Amino acid sequence: MAAAESDRDPPSALCSEFLNFSARDTATRWLEAADLKHEVYRHLAVYVPRILCLGPTPGGGGAGSSREEQREELACQLLLLAPLEWFLLGEEPSTGLALLQEKNQPSPLCGHVFKVGEPTYSCRECAADPTCVLCMQCFLGSVHREHRYRMTTSGGGGFCDCGDAEAWNKGPYCHNHTPTANTRDSEADPTALLPADMVARGYSIFSIILKYAVDLLTWDQEDQVPAGLEPPERGDTYYCMLFNDEVHTYEQVIYTLQKAVSCSQKEAVSFATTVDRDGRKSVRFGDFQFCEQAKSVIVRNTSRQSKPLRVEVMHSSVVAHQCFALKALSWLGQVIQYSDGLRRTLCQVGLQTGPEGENSSLVDQLMLNDSKMWKGARNIYHQLLMNSLLMDLKYKKIFAIQFAKTYERLQSDFVTDDHDREFSITDLSVQIFTVPSLARMLMVEENLMKTIIRTFVDHLRHRDLHGRFQFDRYTAQQAFKFGRVQSLIGDLKYVLISRPSQWNDQLRVKFLEGLDAFLELLKCMQGMDPVVRQVGQHIEMEPEWEAAFTLQMKLTHIITMIQDWCCTDERVLIEAYRKCLSVLSSCHLPEGEQPISLSVAGHTVETFRYQVSQDKVSIHLPLYRLLAGLHVLLSRTEVASRFPEQLPLGELSPPLLIELPLRCLVLCAQVHAGMWRRNGFSLINQIYYYHNVKCRVEMFDKDIIMLQVGASMMDPNHFLMIVLSRFELVHIFSSDCRKRYREANKDVVQQNNTLIEEMLHLIIMVVGERYVSGVGQVEPLEEVRREIIHQLSIRAMAHSELVKALPENGNKETGLERVIDSVASFKKPGVTGRGLYELRPEWTKHFNLYFHHYSRADQSKAEEAQRKTRRQNGEDTALPPPRPPPLCPLFASLVNLLQCDVLLAVEGAVLHWAVEPSGGGWTESMLQRVLHLVGVALLEEQQQLENSSGDDDVTFNYTSKITRPGEAPSTSGSVLALLESLQNAPHLEVHKDMISWILKMVSNIKTMRERSCSTSTVAVSQGQGPEEMVRDKDKAERKRKADMARLRREKIMAQMSEMQKHFINENKELFQQSLEELEASTSAPPERSPPGLEPMCVSQVCVGPRRVGGAEPRQLVTCILCQEEQEVRGHGRAMVLAAFVQRSTVLSKNRRRSLPDPERHDPVFMHPDLSMGVHTASCGHIMHATCWQRYFEAVQLKEQRRQQRLRGHTSYDVENGEFLCPLCECLSNTVIPLLPQTRPPDPSVSHPSLEAWLKLTNQQTAVLRYTHRSQSGGVAEEAEPVVPEGFRVDFAPQNPFSSSVSEMVTAFSVSAYKVGLKVNPNEQDPRVPVVVWSTCAYTIQSIERLLMDEQKPLFGSLPCRQDDCLSSLTRFSSACWTSAPVTTTHTHFVRLFTALHPDASAADAPCVLDMDMFHLLVYTVLSYSSVHTLDQSRWSSVDSAHLHLLHLVTVAHLVQILLTSTTEEVCMDQDGAGSQEEELTCQLYDRLRKHLSSVLPEVTSGWQLYRRVKVGILPFLRSAALFFHYLNSTAPPADLLVAGPGQWEALCSYLSLPSNLLQLHQSQHTQLEPLIQRWCCHPGVRRSLQGGGAVVQFPRESNRLIDLPEDYSVLINQASSFTCPRSGGDKARAPTLCLVCGSLLCSQSYCCQTEVEGEDVGACTAHTFTCGAGLGLFLRVRESQVLFVAGKTKGCFYPPPYLDDYGETDQGLKRGNPLHLCAERYRKIERLWHQHGIAEVIGHAQEANQTLVAIDWQHL
Ligand SMILES: [Zn+2]
Ligand SMILES: [Zn+2]
Ligand SMILES: [Zn+2]
Ligand SMILES: [Zn+2]
Ligand SMILES: [Zn+2]
Ligand SMILES: [Zn+2]
Ligand SMILES: [Zn+2]
Repeated sequence: MAAAESDRDPPSALCSEFLNFSARDTATRWLEAADLKHEVYRHLAVYVPRILCLGPTPGGGGAGSSREEQREELACQLLLLAPLEWFLLGEEPSTGLALLQEKNQPSPLCGHVFKVGEPTYSCRECAADPTCVLCMQCFLGSVHREHRYRMTTSGGGGFCDCGDAEAWNKGPYCHNHTPTANTRDSEADPTALLPADMVARGYSIFSIILKYAVDLLTWDQEDQVPAGLEPPERGDTYYCMLFNDEVHTYEQVIYTLQKAVSCSQKEAVSFATTVDRDGRKSVRFGDFQFCEQAKSVIVRNTSRQSKPLRVEVMHSSVVAHQCFALKALSWLGQVIQYSDGLRRTLCQVGLQTGPEGENSSLVDQLMLNDSKMWKGARNIYHQLLMNSLLMDLKYKKIFAIQFAKTYERLQSDFVTDDHDREFSITDLSVQIFTVPSLARMLMVEENLMKTIIRTFVDHLRHRDLHGRFQFDRYTAQQAFKFGRVQSLIGDLKYVLISRPSQWNDQLRVKFLEGLDAFLELLKCMQGMDPVVRQVGQHIEMEPEWEAAFTLQMKLTHIITMIQDWCCTDERVLIEAYRKCLSVLSSCHLPEGEQPISLSVAGHTVETFRYQVSQDKVSIHLPLYRLLAGLHVLLSRTEVASRFPEQLPLGELSPPLLIELPLRCLVLCAQVHAGMWRRNGFSLINQIYYYHNVKCRVEMFDKDIIMLQVGASMMDPNHFLMIVLSRFELVHIFSSDCRKRYREANKDVVQQNNTLIEEMLHLIIMVVGERYVSGVGQVEPLEEVRREIIHQLSIRAMAHSELVKALPENGNKETGLERVIDSVASFKKPGVTGRGLYELRPEWTKHFNLYFHHYSRADQSKAEEAQRKTRRQNGEDTALPPPRPPPLCPLFASLVNLLQCDVLLAVEGAVLHWAVEPSGGGWTESMLQRVLHLVGVALLEEQQQLENSSGDDDVTFNYTSKITRPGEAPSTSGSVLALLESLQNAPHLEVHKDMISWILKMVSNIKTMRERSCSTSTVAVSQGQGPEEMVRDKDKAERKRKADMARLRREKIMAQMSEMQKHFINENKELFQQSLEELEASTSAPPERSPPGLEPMCVSQVCVGPRRVGGAEPRQLVTCILCQEEQEVRGHGRAMVLAAFVQRSTVLSKNRRRSLPDPERHDPVFMHPDLSMGVHTASCGHIMHATCWQRYFEAVQLKEQRRQQRLRGHTSYDVENGEFLCPLCECLSNTVIPLLPQTRPPDPSVSHPSLEAWLKLTNQQTAVLRYTHRSQSGGVAEEAEPVVPEGFRVDFAPQNPFSSSVSEMVTAFSVSAYKVGLKVNPNEQDPRVPVVVWSTCAYTIQSIERLLMDEQKPLFGSLPCRQDDCLSSLTRFSSACWTSAPVTTTHTHFVRLFTALHPDASAADAPCVLDMDMFHLLVYTVLSYSSVHTLDQSRWSSVDSAHLHLLHLVTVAHLVQILLTSTTEEVCMDQDGAGSQEEELTCQLYDRLRKHLSSVLPEVTSGWQLYRRVKVGILPFLRSAALFFHYLNSTAPPADLLVAGPGQWEALCSYLSLPSNLLQLHQSQHTQLEPLIQRWCCHPGVRRSLQGGGAVVQFPRESNRLIDLPEDYSVLINQASSFTCPRSGGDKARAPTLCLVCGSLLCSQSYCCQTEVEGEDVGACTAHTFTCGAGLGLFLRVRESQVLFVAGKTKGCFYPPPYLDDYGETDQGLKRGNPLHLCAERYRKIERLWHQHGIAEVIGHAQEANQTLVAIDWQHL
């Protein structure tokens, strides 16, 4: 593309235009012009191509292109827009606009248009519907802040409804938008406020510009511009323009582009991103041929499987004008923001009918061409519509009418358009239809309801012979269409969402017309997807069922809403009922079946032959269900009783009404009975959804109601016989064929048993389900309450679980909140888990075992739970039915079912079978259901008796019927007699309580009847019947027994827990596996002190010749793999500890420092910013080295085999040496060998003074340096230094370890080296021992921090596994030099020592400010041993050297702290003379100032300085104490085992230091003074202090995770304004927050992929490499999810620290409850990070959930 580049106009040409051009003059010329349009067009024709036709903007969005864009922007503003503004305002634009704004009287609408991802708020108490939302600004200033609200993130588009009085039932205005005196009355004309000439100018210029824009956006010629715009000189440059579609993937487009225009992958990605965002992008610029060629390649490459990508070769001037058209539209949108008058003017222009008459206004033209435009153009004009028409209340109405008029066409365009709905003009429906007044108006004037439904039905033309939808025959294209027209249902929902409070005749007419259309739609669904039972063979193909259910699900709310509308007007209700009934009777009704007559229990009924098991049956019966719903409304509104003459009730044929719903219910029963197994999953799924909470309201529930309707209008015996017949059970109950039936085959017996159970259950539901207002006398609230009671009867549940179990209404409300607190108590969650609701005990009496929404599984869980609580409370375990609410009059006759002869016969038969159980023809479930039915009947009778005034006859007399002996052929006696005989049947123990309950009820009722007969005046005592008293006595006895049982149980429990404790103690290691337990053990004091921790009263010293320790005789450990015991010895079999080494930046004080270059990094000196360290952890599990090796080889082998079979990752990476601990599955990547303790110091050896030791060591290092130099080439001219007596450079120490131990020593060293430096293993590398020392030092430091932060004592609070890890790590580090070449360790020591004791030869040593002193201490101490072995004189001990080194480093650290303590703060008042410490501190500080003169500020307060020193050095001393404790196995002093005072003194004495540390300096003054001088004189010191780099101050504060806001929406808001740093100003789709450093990243997106180590990775993974050495903690803001990633392949999600008021997280932000920060959970995450536990959490998560392994974490 270089060629194209050079073709450009030199920018200078345009620059001179700038200078000579005057916008003002141009505007003046226009004012005078006769033909304004002509003038303006001529201006545009000249300038637009010159500014916007400059060839391709280079891909990749580099700095060059953004400069280019800026230049273009500027030229547009100055040359094109400025004249327009001058023309409009007649003065300097900025002044003019400011004036306009000042004078403007804005309407109170906020109208803020939402960006993608911006938070929106809806008040659940006050919003008219859930689409009414507020922007964050408005929400925070509104009353709804204190209400129950829902928070979501916007998908872009849509605007804030603040100020719209219709959108809110309460509080429509926020603070800022509350109408004031300055606010215009919404009816007043805003143009009246503007000067008339400006309105006129505005009108003419807006007309021209809008027309220009519309013409160009709808322009379809590629080579020609509209008339009047022809450029003065026509160039012949073209663009090859690529358009977006939703068919081709990113990858396909990128690949094609690389081929077609031969660009780099990066450019192709950039092109593809822009095409996706803007809808089109020019990919080539040049002459026609050149572009045409690219086009043909693209078309050829993308046409294989699908429609090719759309590409057009367009003349550059066309493209330029289109670009400017978009800019002009944005400009219009901006200008009208300043003045409502101008907005009104623009609205007039836009909706002005054009010359072609109807639908020809400019806005119409845009809308009608919407589906032809590219995404970018659509977005911009949609925005403009929202800013103009929708913000002007008058024009909003006019626009709404226009929108409705073109609705059908727009929808048809949309159906064929392939863009998502959010980019379609049809999406504006939500802005218009949700305004109730507009919706009502459109319904009346434009018949909107009918239009929508008709449009919908029109698009689903494919039907079967009966005119029903037939989705299984759909082609892919029809299926696509079906997917798209579903949005019409959404529109219908908007229209219906608010019920009218007032009706007029017009509205009635139009609503009923809409209803007609709707009934037609339902008719097409009636009987869809019929099924026939498959016998013999299994079905070959699962039939399509999802489409039908999708439709049903989408329509559910609509059907409910239509019923709600009908409910508000009696005339509409009556009319709707008639219409529904007449459509129903026009449907294909069951016909032609053979009539038969049935007789049971002396009753006979005429019906016809039909068997669900043989004939067609369909689940889709929407017309019947709507009728059932309307019938209930007739009852609820009492229309049925008030206007019986207007209702066609006489036309109803109850047997026909119940027929199809009954078949559907029988189908479910048969499926349960296993009769439809061969019909496959399709049917199972349908049955599942039929009962599911999403569908059941308008499916299952209504079928039950329809049966209730039918039964209430029929003879109960007839009803039951039809039911029996459809269940195909008549023969069982009609005669004695039971004998024959017993002999039938086993499957049939079982099927029939299930069918009988199901039938009994159905009868229970028909007579018992009365919690629908209109069926029973209940309030809607009671319905919800009953659902909740039954859910909580299963178990305690979280809020979200309850919400899921309840049906939502169209407003997404369940009504849960209104009742939940009355029935349940809330239990708050801990640090894990979620808050739970528990049923209050007083509500258990409402529990109904046969609750109709229970699945069989729910039912048995609830039964178990209820029986258990009853037993615990010492009650009987009978679960009798609850007292049902009374029925409404229309349904009153339902109760007769309970006492009808057929039911009694059925009950009698079942009881009879129960008395003589033999064969398989009987189940306990049957009996249980019969007992329940008997119970319901008795309750009914009791209630009727209670409510009767005494003298009138209670018609319901169940008790008398059941005392009657049974009829032929049953000779067994009455139902009651049967029950009595069952009472003591041994095989019915479970039901005994229930039977006793029934018998007591019977006797109570008898008593009641007798009483009311004898003395009709005696009222029956309410509630507490005699039955209750019998129960009380019974209860007391039970309670006593239960109490005794409880005591016994408690005793056993106590014994068990005692045993458990022992077990835990004995298997302690086993119980310290999981992280959870790790925490528990750090938060509670350990039960036993780890070895070597028994405190001593004598003051202990852990370092130096006086140290104590190493006296423990033998250390025995057990291998977890072979269970053998083994002593830890240097010469024995090696024992190892599973360990995990990782790089860490947890302690880093400088996250900007780039990672060291692995090959050249010199780790000998650690910088005090600790920017990266190596951390080692262990689960503490010990194995034989050989056992471990065998185990690891097996793991490797298994992994190889697995990889051959299926590619993919495991949670651990075997190739990198990773494995899971065989015992606890903790992620590990190496093992640490266990080494024996160091021996106690030899008292015979003398302890040289510091002076003597320094002199000797100096000599030794000099000799070593000389030897090394002469070995590596020789430096002859240097004099050979004096060799101290007994120092033998060539001495080769004997390896103290067996080969097995040595091998393990090497193994760990190498893996620490490999992980720590990220290099290939190389055991010869001189850096190997340094990395081992470094991980020892770093791990100790990080643990010291952890203990400090959690305020735990230094010793004794670590869990065993950490204690074991540190002790083996430290012992190991002191011995690891044995496996390295001797000279390397010597060289390291020499370098380290010279840094402490600088001399002339040490030019490369770092300055005292650039070393971490603790690392220096550890390195010098650990490397000294190798030098010490060369000293054969045995003149001094290693221990003296350690002590001297400690003192030296401590003094160096003191100096370091003093140098970095800037005491600029005002000195505190100090009284009198300072203490000795303070004086000495001042002295030392003054000495430093002398060396460094002016660099250090003068300090007057010794007190403050000393305080800083003391605080600053504490972490060092604590780390040193830990280090020497583990190195020398010295027991800690008692004071350090507890937190509290006296720490400082104990610490100093433990380390053999004076408690006044300054005395170190004081007492060795002569030795140290020259050293201090040399430290200070290092040029680096002066440089750093003068600002040549960030100086680390002491103590280093512990790193915290970033502070998070308390309110989650603050985060969402921040993230919504975050733009992708790479693709200019685009919103990031997955903004992700680094919890460590607070960076926001554009994750999971092509635009921000970076190459890391030769692989493209997402922004998060790339960030971890700079911020966390490969490990990261993030918060995915849109998802409300914490993300952990480690390396490139590992990651997991973790619950976020944000909870709603119900103690639940909302991962994915689906529920939208307000979320607040839970500090404890956030601290828990932080602690995990501090503990270096993230990698382990990921490992465990991936082990537990294999799907996590498959996620491409590196792309996040
Ligand atoms: Zn707002
Ligand atoms: Zn507002
Ligand atoms: Zn509110
Ligand atoms: Zn073993
Ligand atoms: Zn383990
Ligand atoms: Zn970060
Ligand atoms: Zn990005």
